[in-house]
Amino acid sequence: MIAINLVELVIVSFLGLAIGSFLNVVIHRLPRRQSIVSPGSRCPGCRTTLRWFDNIPVLSYAVLRGRCRTCGSGISIRYPLVELITAGVFIWHYLVFGWTPLLAVRLLFAASMVALFAIDLEHHLLPDAITLPGIAVGLVASLFLPPGIADALIGTLVGGGVLWLIGEAYFRYSGEEGLGGGDVKMLGMIGAFLGWKLVLVTMMLSSVAGSVIGVAVIAWHRGGLKRALPFGTFLALAALAASLYGEQIVTWYAGRLG
Ligand SMILES: [Zn+2]
Repeated sequence: MIAINLVELVIVSFLGLAIGSFLNVVIHRLPRRQSIVSPGSRCPGCRTTLRWFDNIPVLSYAVLRGRCRTCGSGISIRYPLVELITAGVFIWHYLVFGWTPLLAVRLLFAASMVALFAIDLEHHLLPDAITLPGIAVGLVASLFLPPGIADALIGTLVGGGVLWLIGEAYFRYSGEEGLGGGDVKMLGMIGAFLGWKLVLVTMMLSSVAGSVIGVAVIAWHRGGLKRALPFGTFLALAALAASLYGEQIVTWYAGRLG
C-alpha cells in the first residue's frame, strides 16, 4: 500500500476537477472542429462568455442550478459529471500509484480515456487529434518509465495490428465495416502507454463487457440497436481498469496457468 498524503490528495483532486473542466471543452469542441484554446468557455445557448466565477468546476453548476446566468437555458449535467468522474479517476490512480512520475503519465492517459469515452458515446467518433499524439506521447514516456519502450512498441503493434487484422478480415468476409479506424488507433495508443500485456487485458475486458452489455441491449430492444454503444466506450473503461489493476490481473492469470 502507498502512504496517502493529504496535501497530495487535495492537489490530485483539484487537478482532476480542473482537467475535467478542460475536457468538457475538448469533448464539446473537438468533434465540431472548433479551437479548444479560444474563445473562452461560452454558454452554448446564448454564447455569452462565462466569467471565472461561473466557470468553477461543479460548484458553479450547483450554485446556478444547472442554468445559464444570462439566458437561463439549461446546462447539460454532462459538465459536472465529467468533472467529478475525472477527479474520481485521478484520485483512484493516486491511490494505486502514489506520488510518482508514473502517476503523471497515467493521469494524462486517464484524462484522454475520459475524453475518448465521452466523444465516442455522443458522436461515435474517436478523434485522431487525441489518439495519434497519444501514441507518440505514450512511446516517449515509455522510454523512461514502465512498461519500457520494447513493451510499448510491441503493445502499439499488438493493439493496432490485431484489431486492424480483425477489421480487415470482417470487411472481406461481410463487406461491411466492423471496427472503425478510430478503434485501431485508440488501441495503438493504449498499447503505447500500457505495453503489450495490458493492451491484451484491455481487449479481453472490453470484449467481455461489450458482449454482456450488447446482449442485454439487444434483448431489451428485441434485436434493434446494432451498435447502440460504440466500442470505443468499452475500450476506454477497460483501459482505465487495465491501467489501475492490469498488473494484478496478469499476475493472477499467470498464476492460474502455472
Ligand atoms: Zn446562456
